[in-house]
Amino acid sequence: MSISNFRADLGDIPVEDHPRIVQQRSRDHYWYSPVLKAKLDHVTAEVVVSPRSNEEVKRVLAAAFRHGVAITPRGAGTGNYGQAMPLSGGAMLNLMNMDKVLDIKKDRVRAQAGAVLEQIDHQTRAAVDGELRFHPSTYRMASIGGFIAGGSGGVGSVRWGGLRNLGSILGVKVITCEETPRELDLVGEDVLKVAHAYGTNGIIVEAEMPLTQAHDWVDMMVGFDDFIDACRFGGAVALQDGLLVKEVAPCAAPIPQDYFNRHKPYIRDGQSVVLLMVAPVAVDAMTLFIAHHKGEMLYRSDLASEEERRRLPPIYELAWNHTTLRALKVDPTITYLQTRYPTVAHVEKIISILGDELPMHIEVGRQDGVVMYGGLPLVRYTTEERLNEIIRIHEENGCTVFNPHRYTLEEGGMKRTDQKQLDFKREADPKGMLNPGKMIAWDDPDFDFNAGRAWLFDGLNPVS
Ligand code: FAD
Repeated sequence: MSISNFRADLGDIPVEDHPRIVQQRSRDHYWYSPVLKAKLDHVTAEVVVSPRSNEEVKRVLAAAFRHGVAITPRGAGTGNYGQAMPLSGGAMLNLMNMDKVLDIKKDRVRAQAGAVLEQIDHQTRAAVDGELRFHPSTYRMASIGGFIAGGSGGVGSVRWGGLRNLGSILGVKVITCEETPRELDLVGEDVLKVAHAYGTNGIIVEAEMPLTQAHDWVDMMVGFDDFIDACRFGGAVALQDGLLVKEVAPCAAPIPQDYFNRHKPYIRDGQSVVLLMVAPVAVDAMTLFIAHHKGEMLYRSDLASEEERRRLPPIYELAWNHTTLRALKVDPTITYLQTRYPTVAHVEKIISILGDELPMHIEVGRQDGVVMYGGLPLVRYTTEERLNEIIRIHEENGCTVFNPHRYTLEEGGMKRTDQKQLDFKREADPKGMLNPGKMIAWDDPDFDFNAGRAWLFDGLNPVS
């Protein structure tokens, strides 16, 4: 590997080599996990390259191929499994200079990979009164390319499922890392090759996403004395076909009291809450539904004063991994898990075993038409052994864990690599220069594709 020869081939493409800045850009939110923090703290690239066009991306990838320089793509760096950590050094490929919205139609938007999700929505709202179907809670920072390559779903998934579903990503343009890099337009099932693949098999430079009708979503916070009642209410809301919602997240006491600093004054001691985003047309019906479930309306953004609305973060920034972030700001020893509970009874069982060691946070979602209880429980971390024990307790009780304390695709449990996936990597990245170390199946020819225990993004083989 020769970084200086690599640089010499880049012409006027911006390159940063100040060690402090390079180290900063070599990091994502891996530190959410004490396990990843210990493993990845030392990791850094040697330079950051910031192309401004598809042609420049091709030039960078041709130079990387020629000189054997590892390339780790990076959007906003908000991934939290160390996906964007450059395990083999080399160059970070910063895509954030490629941030244009290219085309907006009534039902879809095409944007460059570095476009920030919130910025995409600003433009689609103005042009066609549309918005992305769902987004991570890092909406205000994250890029569309990083979301597709590193994320899974989020705010809106209660209605629209996740990135794993056919139809959630309409198309991507990918650039390969070869002697002469090519542009590949992937559509249909082929988009799943690069969805949640951490950029190991091609650099996404454009994406086309479906739009839905935009709404001025109303934030609500509803209180329950009993967390299980809060979960039952959340599941019931998701099943109500007439109640248009974008977010449903039950959070158990003492999460809201201890970590939702600015919303704290609205919440009584011992109360659990459900965070909701509700379409204006559904607000009155939702108010009735809350009363039927004996919930207490604690906060409604449409009735809040100007000052309150300015002071309080949007409710989605209390949800998803923002719940974890808020807890970490108060108590740096906290970490989290990603789980799936088949029923509320499973949630109840896990709480009965783990109690306050695992303050519970649920994201109610929809998967293949079925309402499910995705868990992002906080963990009062002590040791890695105990963390593994907590994972084991989940699995023994019929709950799925997608382990966020692993940086490889396969061990994270979200992405199932299979022969098609591997073949595509051989085609798009024959020398293995893209984000090395993240795909076990590439490094280990004997890797058993069935070794994982859970997959959110299943393989590409047809259902038999
Ligand atoms: P990055 O972190 O920069 O990159 C993510 C991965 O994609 C890395 O492997 C990187 O190498 C690769 N990559 C980046 N750009 C490209 C490209 N153009 N081509 C190929 N590969 C690329 N995720 C969710 O799914 N849902 C959530 O609700 C959610 N909430 C979060 C809340 C917090 C507080 C935090 C810290 C994280 C959360 N995440 C969530 C994870 C993350 O924020 C999202 O997945 C986000 O969309 C990642 O976008 P990014 O631009 O920051 O990508």
